[in-house]
This record gives sequence, structure tokens and C-alpha cells, in this order.
Amino acid sequence: MTSPETDIPIAIDGDRLWATLEASAQIGSIPPSGLARLALSASDRQMRDLFVSWCREAGLAVRVDRIGNIFARRAGRGGDVAPVMIGSHLDTQVHGGRFDGILGVLAALEVVRALNDADVHTSRPVDIVCWTDEEGARFRRSMLGSSVFTGELELTQALLLTDDDGVTVGDALTEIGYVGEAGVPGPPPHAYLELHIEQNSILDESDVDVGIVDSSYPTYILAVHFEGRTAHAGPTPMAKRHDALTGAARAIVAIDEITRRHGPEAKSSTSSIRVWPNRPAIVSSSVDLRCNICHPDDHVLDGIKREIERAVEAAAAASNVTGHVVPAARFGDAGFDSRVVAALDAAAATAGIPSMRIAAQAGHDAFAIARIAPTAMVFCPCRDGISHHPDEDVDYARVLPSIAVLARAAVAVADGPELG
Ligand SMILES: [Zn+2]
Repeated sequence: MTSPETDIPIAIDGDRLWATLEASAQIGSIPPSGLARLALSASDRQMRDLFVSWCREAGLAVRVDRIGNIFARRAGRGGDVAPVMIGSHLDTQVHGGRFDGILGVLAALEVVRALNDADVHTSRPVDIVCWTDEEGARFRRSMLGSSVFTGELELTQALLLTDDDGVTVGDALTEIGYVGEAGVPGPPPHAYLELHIEQNSILDESDVDVGIVDSSYPTYILAVHFEGRTAHAGPTPMAKRHDALTGAARAIVAIDEITRRHGPEAKSSTSSIRVWPNRPAIVSSSVDLRCNICHPDDHVLDGIKREIERAVEAAAAASNVTGHVVPAARFGDAGFDSRVVAALDAAAATAGIPSMRIAAQAGHDAFAIARIAPTAMVFCPCRDGISHHPDEDVDYARVLPSIAVLARAAVAVADGPELG
């Protein structure tokens, strides 16, 4: 691993990075500062095309896989061996910001441009990756591309997911021209590193600019379903109604109250609701909710989940409907690789950049990749911790140190021993 005596003078060019970020922020923009760049949309295609052109200008070989993940390779001295992969995602939420995911991809591009400038050639290749549809904002399945890459989600299943207009992932991928040749699941990289804005205010409120992510909050995505019976919303006596929407409303409030009782480390939100028939003058017969819950202690998290299950039953009973909870996803249990974390620590020390250990509290592609390859993340501060909102912002000067750490760690891991 790199030591202070062997530090490589990799110069991150802040102006070049900001110009790249500014150009990316024009695509799918919500004036004055936000982005709505949904996965596999026309604006996603425009962003991908621009990113690919930047990669080609940097001398990288671009490859796309069957789910549209983009890999841009900087060749290594040691031939076509497993690469060090660095990246994130270019898609956004429906009402999102300019940095969530995007900064990770464009920081990786800046790392490669800086390696080119410094004429540094690593032993293993360095691949920049842009994962398809991390947010799940359009097809309601987050970490889509990275989960197909690892084999956790079957390609055929992923391609059949639909958006609210009934368009499938497969058709949308074809439409934007990003059905690639590379097979999935893909070959595990030597290691994976991802830089991301923190999406919380721990770093922003501290005087440390670099968060080295060594752990994460276990998280459930719960699918909650209520089943009732349609009826006329006017004359039907209250005692004879089986109103699924009322059951869901009781449950939404209960989930919030349960979470608050478990203190500030417990977090939850019911973030999506689908109601049928969702029309005037008819009692709703079915409702689907999606709810995130997380807590750093998995025993506490499981306890919260059990309380929610009981509360859903009680809410359903009070509304004369049935209700049940199914965990749709669970992530954040796999800790990050201690050797990759150590490489980040060493990189920060080498560059003389203060850093702190921090836990990830949101889902990231890195969680998917951690299942198949040694993985760790670097966080940089974002203003007031605001994210998934057009006001998402960063102090540019406070972002550069994390990219300097990412660059040094990527080189150290690319030149380091087998991680096995
Ligand atoms: Zn993200």
C-alpha cells in the first residue's frame, strides 16, 4: 500500500471537475438548481451520451452490459485482469439534486483524468462505472443495475419491471439505445470504491471533509398491502365499509409513531402509496404502501419491524380490511471490506487530509457490489445534509479532499496485493 514516502502527486483539478458537473446539471434540470433525470429517460440518454464522450476523450474503452450499466476502462500494465472499479449513478429522483450519485461518477472521471495528467499507470485496470437506475424512482426498484450485475436480481425479471405508464425496463433500455453486449451477472471487480455526498449533516457540521464509510444502517423496505372492498362512498353505512385507504392511513401514522418512540437513531418513512380504484365516490378496495425503516442495531430494527406488523394488523382490523407486511428488500447488513477501508485511511493519512469514520444511512450501489467484491465508500459533506431535493448542494472546496483520497486509494488498491 502507498506510504507517505511514496505518495504520488495526483492533482485533482477542481475547475475541470466543476465545469463537468455544471454541464451535467443542464440535463434534466429543474430550474434553478434541481434535477429530474429519471432512469432510462431521454435526459438519461443525453447524460449517458455526454459521459461516454468524456470517457472516450480521456482515452477509455467503453463497454455497456445487458442492463445498461456503463464501464469505461483505463487499461492497467498487467493486462486484462479484474479492475478496481470506481463510480456511482447518473439518474436522479423525480425532484432531486445535482450531486447525488452524479458526483461519484464525475469524481471517478476526474480521478482518471488526473491519473492521465500525472502519467500514473496502475497495475490493474481502473474502470469508471455508471450503474443503471440506482434511485428506483421510475421502476420502483432501487439499485437495479448493480443488483443485476451481482446476480442478486435476474436480468429477465429486471427487464419486465414497469413504470407508471406500463413501459418496461427492457423497452426503455432499447429506446435509449443502451442494451449492451456485456453479459450479466458481470465478473466481480478486484475492488469497488464509491464516492457519494453524505446525505446527512454529520460531516457538514464538523470540520472534517472526508468520511470513510466502514459500516451502514441495516434497512428494510417494507411492502404493506391492505385489501378491502369497493362500495359507494355516499350511502354505504360506515359499519359496512371495508375501506383499505382508511386502514392504510391508520398504519402510516402508526409507523411514524412507532419509529419516533425508538429514538433519533430509528428512521422511517412511508414514501409511496398506490390506491385502487383511486376515484371519487368509491370506497378504495386496495392499497399498497412502501416504507423504509433503518436503525444501526439490527435487533432493534427487527423489533421495530415486528411492532409495525402488529400495528398494520390493528389498523386493518379497525377498518374492516385485511393488512399484511412483506419485506421487499433488506440491505446495509454487509459491512465494508476492512482492507479497502484501510486503503482509504492510508490514502487520507498519506495526503495529510483529516478524515473520520462514518456509517452510511442510505442505500447505495456499493451495498450490492459488497456482496461480490471488497468494497468501501467515501463521503463528502453536503450542505445541511439536504438530499433528494433541488436544494441539494455542496461547498466545492470541501469536496476536493475526498476525491484526493479516492484517487490515492484507487491507485493503492490497483497496485496492491490480491484481496481474495
Ligand atoms: Zn445516490
